[in-house]
Amino acid sequence: MTTAAKLLWVAFALCWGVIRFRYAHRAKRNRQIEEQDRTYESVLLTLSFIGYLAVPVLYLGTSWLSFADYSLQPVLFGAGIVASAASLWLFWRSHADLGRNFSIKLVIREQHALVTTGVYRVIRHPMYASALLWSFGQALLLPNWATALAGLFGFCILYCGRVRREETLMLKTFGPSYEEYMMRTKRLVPHIY
Ligand code: SAH
Repeated sequence: MTTAAKLLWVAFALCWGVIRFRYAHRAKRNRQIEEQDRTYESVLLTLSFIGYLAVPVLYLGTSWLSFADYSLQPVLFGAGIVASAASLWLFWRSHADLGRNFSIKLVIREQHALVTTGVYRVIRHPMYASALLWSFGQALLLPNWATALAGLFGFCILYCGRVRREETLMLKTFGPSYEEYMMRTKRLVPHIY
């Protein structure tokens, strides 16, 4: 079962890569006109990338993290599939809804429009919500404590280092429209948080 879980994680990760590549490529046509704290953003993304990709790859490809292994239970395996599939769906929908306004770093584009429809109608940060679900999926599918903690670390770094600054930039760019949008939506979990 552990081998199946590892293979599934790789398959999910490949789908993640395809979605990201496809939409990042499309959004490039909408030129950047403002970029926030380039170095800070690079450090943030690199640290998050270590938790989400480098540590799992180390776990899959070497025995260095075997001290943190445990045996996978069917219920965890099932929950891991559900969390990873839900994460991928939300990741895809948030890219599709954000369209040409998407960027990996904190950026304002030439024709930047405020998106409040699709998955953005119910939460302001569906892509970060998908990252949280991905952390859960990683923790449940790969039976290793170090890899689980690394995924949660990846999310915390991204969320804590980004979300407030992103909302400040959105408020500066879109003013009362974003203020009103903030009043009627939550950040990650509809109606709750
Ligand atoms: N935080 C969002 C978007 C992540 S992508 C999410 O979790 O889904 C990051 C880029 O999206 C930032 O550069 C920002 O300029 C842009 N952005 C964030 N929210 C937006 C919105 N509602 N409409 C348009 N662009 C948005």
